[in-house]
Amino acid sequence: MSTPAPRRAVVLGGGITGLVAAHRLIQGASERGISLEVTLAEASGRFGGSIETAREAGFVMERGPDCFLSTKPEGIALCRELGLEGRLAGTKSAHRRSFILRKGRLVPVPEGFYLLAPSSILPFVTTPIFSSLGKLRMAMDFFIPARRGGGDETLASFVRRRFGREALERMAQPMIGGIYSADPEELSLEATMPQFLEMERAHGSVIRALRKRMREGAAKSRAASASGPRYGLFLTLEPGMGSLIDALLERIPAGSLRPEARAASLRGEGGRWRIGIEGGGEIEADAVCLALPTEPARGLLEPLSERLGARLGEIPYGSVATLNLAFSREQVAHPLDGMGFVVPEIEGRMLMACSFSSSKFEGRAPEGKVLLRAFVGGAYGEAALFVSDEEMIGRVMDELGPLLGIRGEPEAAVLSRYGSAMAQYRLGHLDRVREIDEEVGKLPGIAVAGSAYRGVGIPDCAAGAGAAAASLLDYIAASAA
Ligand SMILES: Cc1cc2nc3c(=O)[nH]c(=O)nc-3n(C[C@H](O)[C@H](O)[C@H](O)COP(=O)(O)OP(=O)(O)OC[C@H]3O[C@@H](n4cnc5c(N)ncnc54)[C@H](O)[C@@H]3O)c2cc1C
Repeated sequence: MSTPAPRRAVVLGGGITGLVAAHRLIQGASERGISLEVTLAEASGRFGGSIETAREAGFVMERGPDCFLSTKPEGIALCRELGLEGRLAGTKSAHRRSFILRKGRLVPVPEGFYLLAPSSILPFVTTPIFSSLGKLRMAMDFFIPARRGGGDETLASFVRRRFGREALERMAQPMIGGIYSADPEELSLEATMPQFLEMERAHGSVIRALRKRMREGAAKSRAASASGPRYGLFLTLEPGMGSLIDALLERIPAGSLRPEARAASLRGEGGRWRIGIEGGGEIEADAVCLALPTEPARGLLEPLSERLGARLGEIPYGSVATLNLAFSREQVAHPLDGMGFVVPEIEGRMLMACSFSSSKFEGRAPEGKVLLRAFVGGAYGEAALFVSDEEMIGRVMDELGPLLGIRGEPEAAVLSRYGSAMAQYRLGHLDRVREIDEEVGKLPGIAVAGSAYRGVGIPDCAAGAGAAAASLLDYIAASAA
């Protein structure tokens, strides 16, 4: 009896989503006894997508993400599985606070403030960030009834409705901008921060819900501290987030990796898929996972489903640049006693945010040095990205210098531009994703995954990749039977 010919699965896009999808396909096929060849086709010459760590003169510089949320289990689970658990590190406990720019000065975010609303009363009452009237308006949250029905709402409308305009302009906008590089006037509340919607529904008041959560959290951490240390909210990897990419690449056989292979077309023929590679050549596959941003995914899928192409075209991206700046400690007068700061749009700056990387995490800078990481771009500042490297570094330094008391030039400056890299979950996003799922479901052996759909964070991307791989393995197993 002859052994059946191996089946083939192709993953398009070699960011974290594509790498996890390829890894899960290989792993799942072996566990299920499916003979499967896996190919991971990446357009550029490097795997990792937005994730990349630069190591220079003892500095660990994150070009893209520098951490992930510990509250979503898939991030930690992936690190554990890849043997990286011992390299996981939380933020430094001495500096778990942030600043916000208010009238040209860095002011600490009041203790207990959670993205949009306060959970501790005293630090909120005494903060100079809001006016007395602004604080009174925010306190109205205790009395404003929950919204009933009416469908999705923008984050900006939710914040204005519950806490007023000041809360939006001075706090929520820069906080949200820092996470999504997006305009809260456009973002869907239910797709980005459903926890606030839930708090409103369950408790009427968001502040009341946050205070309850804080009390329960304090009780839980008292219980946990008796049973050993727990992870903080943000986790990184000591050698940098790039080590996650390196660990995944170690699990995927070299023969499966196809760098410099940009998918240019996708068509079905004889029950299989044919992927045309830019510059020539085709790959034939039984199953295809598109771990791509929506624009290239739309290019490939629109000829197969107009409706699918249209919905993919409705998920746009924001652009952002990061600038890692290395200094000697004595060059920076600010104590850097926090994780960094965010800048409200009303302050009219080019800077969107700045992390004090060497205060945030251990091991980011050698002894006697500090590492800062500035963010430029986002919803209001994309135009700023179209300047030369030299001009951008100069303008960031002009803004950072007076804020942090910086003297002299940086010892090193590493600029990274991410054009169209941050998916924007606009109003109606969840309905759009439901339609995308429906249309993809009509294409046997096709799956889509990535930051465009169910969360932009690394744990979300890992979860989406796992689900896509599982559905393709089910399809392959069923079609072989
Ligand atoms: C500056 C920045 C900071 C961030 N910070 C954080 C953070 O701290 N924590 C966090 O959890 N998340 C963060 N994120 C978000 C997170 O990094 C991303 O959502 C995630 O890495 C996206 O991974 P992905 O694989 O879905 O997409 P990508 O990383 O965009 O990968 C897609 C890949 O597809 C390739 N490609 C494109 N077209 C084709 C084609 N036609 N054929 C083949 N390949 C193609 C691209 O070259 C790319 O490598 C940040 C993102 C950025 C940009």
